[in-house]
Amino acid sequence: MSSSIGTGMFPGQQPPGSHPLGGHGGPGQSGLLSGAPGNRGPGANTLVDDLEASFEACFASLVSQDYVNGTDQEEIRTGVDQCIQKFLDVARQTECFFLQKRLQLSVQKPEQVIKEDVSELRNELQRKELLVQKHLSKLHHWQQVLEDVSVQHRKPSDLPPPGRQNRCCTKPIRMGVNGTATILSSAYLAVEYVDAVLPGNPLQPSLQQAWGFMNDNYTKFQIATWGSLIVHEAIYFLFCLPGFLFQFMPFMQKYKIQPDKPETWEKQWKCFKMLLFNHFCIQLPMICGTYYFTEFFSIPYDWDSMPRWPYLLVQCLGCAVIEDTWHYFLHRLLHHRRIYRYIHKVHHDFTSPFGMQAEYAHPAETVILGAGFFIGIMVFCNHVTLLWAWVAIRLMETIDVHSGYDVPLNPLHLIPFYAGSRFHDFHHMNFVGNYASTFTWWDKLFHTDSQYNKHLLSKKDQ
Ligand SMILES: [Zn+2]
Ligand SMILES: [Zn+2]
Repeated sequence: MSSSIGTGMFPGQQPPGSHPLGGHGGPGQSGLLSGAPGNRGPGANTLVDDLEASFEACFASLVSQDYVNGTDQEEIRTGVDQCIQKFLDVARQTECFFLQKRLQLSVQKPEQVIKEDVSELRNELQRKELLVQKHLSKLHHWQQVLEDVSVQHRKPSDLPPPGRQNRCCTKPIRMGVNGTATILSSAYLAVEYVDAVLPGNPLQPSLQQAWGFMNDNYTKFQIATWGSLIVHEAIYFLFCLPGFLFQFMPFMQKYKIQPDKPETWEKQWKCFKMLLFNHFCIQLPMICGTYYFTEFFSIPYDWDSMPRWPYLLVQCLGCAVIEDTWHYFLHRLLHHRRIYRYIHKVHHDFTSPFGMQAEYAHPAETVILGAGFFIGIMVFCNHVTLLWAWVAIRLMETIDVHSGYDVPLNPLHLIPFYAGSRFHDFHHMNFVGNYASTFTWWDKLFHTDSQYNKHLLSKKDQ
């Protein structure tokens, strides 16, 4: 049958067995493989040549005039079947060849194969993780919106406009339907409205690129520990700089709260040494804990779930209210006559404070009062950026109240109930009263600001 196809359907072709593709003589082969004459043995061709030739033979058998005009259907079918079979055989051989090469590679260079496989799997995992984060972010957003709606019984038309779902803020703690939840929900909703009408940040692409670079090149532990340390040190000394420079500016001396007690090099050097000890020996181990905190609560580090700055501000305000409350009661306790001399006396070494003194304290005080910093984080943290934003705001506030200068037009005084530098300066001067760190309400409520009020009145009378 095969010879009849070779001579019947495709006359003038090489005899069976002479063609590299096999013994039956594939249809149209002399035309298609003119560069591969019959004297080429099977060993002379590569598998790719064979594959190409068998494919072309299949194709040619379908368009051949002999095929079209042929009358013997059985003969035609057999010819085509053989062509296809030949093509499938060569295709299998080619596949075997590549599999053998892959096997050889895995024996000779197994590390390369594993490396390729790991790289592929890692890429796939990253892609899926991004996808999951994106969907989670959207899910949280809409969950938040639904909670707000159910709490406030708002109409659907009152919902915040769509389009910013991926940058939304999510509340980390599910709160019950109570007064506090309603206030917080209203605050979040108000921020959502403000956020929707704000223009885009022109620096956003650069920030996104920098954030991506950080995430791609550093581990979460490095970001949480060394990143937080760098943020803390850079912001601390940056915010201390203006107050430090004021001592060399005669025209700034009129703003000094206690002008009769100027800063001295001796005090500042002593303070600086204590600061370095506190920062690296007490605070750094505490900062190391932030990585484990973020891992335990699955706090994200990625760009997509980062809250926008209005949310960060509201969260930082919440952290400040909590820290201020903690600070008021613990600070007041540290002033108790039985324990004052053991711990808090160190912070009162200087009766006229200066910015750098903000974190000049006994190591035990750094831990006791520093704990107030982390409570707000535990309540509100839904992204690692809150940690850094809150570090920045808390340092700005504490350095401001310890600056020793009451500079006019200080924007921090726009915050209602903000204590300010005069308030805390009085605490260092008088030792009694004004125990709160940021706001004045606890001192007002417990009348621990009475001596300060008298002091202000007497200053007015002068
Ligand atoms: Zn004190
Ligand atoms: Zn102080």
